[in-house]
Amino acid sequence: MGITSADLHSKLKEFFGFDTFKGDQEKIIMHLVGGNDAFVLMPTGGGKSLCYQLPALVMDGTAIVISPLIALMKNQVDAIRGFVSGNDGIAHFLNSSLSKAQTNEVRTDLLSGATKLLYVAPESLTKPENIALLKEIKISFYAVDEAHCISEWGHDFRPEYRRIRSIIEEIGKAPVIALTATATPKVQSDIQKNLGMTDAKVFKSSFNRPNLYYEIRDKVDPKREIIKFVKQHPGESGIIYCLSRKKVEELAELLGVNGIKALPYHAGLDAKTRAENQDKFLMEEIDVIVATIAFGMGIDKPDVRFVIHYDIPKSIESYYQETGRAGRDGRGGSCIAFYSYKDIQKLEKFMQGKPVAEQEIGKQLLLETVAYAESNQCRRKLLLNYFGEDYPEDNCGACDNCLHPKKKFDGREEMALVIELVESMPEHFKTEHLANILAGTSNAMIKSYRHDELEFFGAGKEHSVRFWCAVIHQGIVLHLLDKDIESYGLISVTDAGRKFLAEPYALMLTEERDFAEGEDDDDEASSPVRGGGGDPVLLSMLKDLRSDLSRKLHLQPWILFSDASLEDMSISYPVTFDELKTCQGVGEGKAKKYGKEFLELIAKYVEENEIERPDDFVVKSVVNKSADKVFIIQSIDRKLPFEDIASAIGKDMDELMDEIDAIVFSGTRLNIDYYINQVMDDDVVDDIYSYFKEDAESDSLDAAMEELGPDYDEFEVRLVRLKFICEVAN
Ligand code: ADP
Ligand code: ZN
Repeated sequence: MGITSADLHSKLKEFFGFDTFKGDQEKIIMHLVGGNDAFVLMPTGGGKSLCYQLPALVMDGTAIVISPLIALMKNQVDAIRGFVSGNDGIAHFLNSSLSKAQTNEVRTDLLSGATKLLYVAPESLTKPENIALLKEIKISFYAVDEAHCISEWGHDFRPEYRRIRSIIEEIGKAPVIALTATATPKVQSDIQKNLGMTDAKVFKSSFNRPNLYYEIRDKVDPKREIIKFVKQHPGESGIIYCLSRKKVEELAELLGVNGIKALPYHAGLDAKTRAENQDKFLMEEIDVIVATIAFGMGIDKPDVRFVIHYDIPKSIESYYQETGRAGRDGRGGSCIAFYSYKDIQKLEKFMQGKPVAEQEIGKQLLLETVAYAESNQCRRKLLLNYFGEDYPEDNCGACDNCLHPKKKFDGREEMALVIELVESMPEHFKTEHLANILAGTSNAMIKSYRHDELEFFGAGKEHSVRFWCAVIHQGIVLHLLDKDIESYGLISVTDAGRKFLAEPYALMLTEERDFAEGEDDDDEASSPVRGGGGDPVLLSMLKDLRSDLSRKLHLQPWILFSDASLEDMSISYPVTFDELKTCQGVGEGKAKKYGKEFLELIAKYVEENEIERPDDFVVKSVVNKSADKVFIIQSIDRKLPFEDIASAIGKDMDELMDEIDAIVFSGTRLNIDYYINQVMDDDVVDDIYSYFKEDAESDSLDAAMEELGPDYDEFEVRLVRLKFICEVAN
């Protein structure tokens, strides 16, 4: 054939409009057109597609591109058809979405030799009729895109990818080019082995993205921080990733309420909405897209200025690929991830019940993520090391750890203490429990095991529980401790840990961070400002006012406002009803009914003490109205039996009651009398009601059950408690 470099350059210009190749593109293409296998490792945005698109256009025959992303095939095919106008047969895709007529068209073009590029999903490749068809045509080469899907160590393993080699053998031999942006040595060798291309030339670009800034933040008040960040970068495009659809919806809405142009994107939206939202982002009608990982594969928006991970991803590969979508144009990009150990525990929970091998891999990948997040080393160095690349500088100048080094200390004694403790106990316990023992913090669990009588109890009381949690996490990361996922995270000591205990060596640990605590995503009404740390003087004034009022109204203080509500007031100094409603547990009814005096007191206090209220940006919260909640509220308005409501949303009665509690406790008033009258005796209702009105010291269900005794049914007590709160407190 004799394709020369000059040929390639002229085709590059003709088809793609580029004057020069990027990175190794030319070398890779020359290698492939010379009839050789190539293994291409390039970071996202490196220009992988061109490595097979261009040779496909210049070589004899049809190139088969195996790609897992059915959704993107059409885009790719359209793009190629755009380069060579008037010849739509030049590129096709073959997947389950095609009609019979469309499949026939593909067939005709393939057999006539018009088609230079055929995209196939691996599922379609394995179909006998497709194999038969491909056997009849001349194949220029095979491209395996997203080749990490072959490896169980990649983040989106596809079992059918493992069969590619045998199918290639069956269809007919031709050079193979495999491409991926995931380049850990493990994944790399897996791919090469499985594709039978261990002798292939490997083209590995540097994975360093010097224009990206990496930062991990403690997930303490992520919503507020995100709003602040986005507002400080007006007009810039950004992607925010969340792990769940629910969170995506919630966050997109919250951003909207706070004046940020944002839309959600996740697999649960219908195709039309998804396409519209994506287009609006690409066309810059909106600035921010809030998405699950489904978003971003194959979309090419060069000027994404920030990628925020609301939840830490489950592997470094995912993290790197997603952050890679920032700054493709070479200009700056900020990559900020929020991390809390709670999220890791959630991810671990997802793995329970999966096959052991998969669990082991998932656990390993997670552990690497924890290590990365908690590390005090240069993030860039860690990332590149992870991908088997050496980063020679000591300070990259563009990551949080380089810009703001964390305090470290020699933690050998602390680690030894933890290991000794774990070894001393016949049973295994979880991180928090161990940390409580060492810090000398007692609770019911500690007491029930009599661990407050251990010599270890309080042995490290000069440090906080959080500190000890951090030490234990770092012990896991260093493989001195092991954590069992199946048993919800029981900690044991590894061989390396025992060795360490026998002969402790210097161990640089990071001082405590806010890792132990994290925002609980399941919290209802996420308060605009986090609890604790309020104005103590104001708080005690608010409490005094509450006692006065409660005496006057003959109501228990908690019925007016809970402690949490008062604490929130002492932090955010609300002076209007709207502001008051952003405080935890304060709904419309409560604000109106009991709020006036509190607002007056706060306003006076603020003025007299010349307090600057945190009104730089008060995060407006969204009325929590997940689909289920809206449905429940509407159903109760329509007086449907609870049993029917529960079954309509696929929940049991307990779960339904939890949902209703959440609705009511965040301040919404419901009228459930119709149901109570139906299922309960009036006398019983009265008894329970008067307990809450006259005796209860809090809304605690446990306390109520204890006080009322075994004659009362817990479900009924819950019902009346709801009624009571709706009528009196809300
Ligand atoms: P990857 O698949 O590796 O993430 P893409 O193939 O999507 O990367 O390419 C990333 C961007 O680089 C695209 O916008 C593409 O048009 C551009 N690109 C690719 N090759 C060249 C080149 N030789 N010159 C200029 N831009 C290029
Ligand atoms: Zn750095």
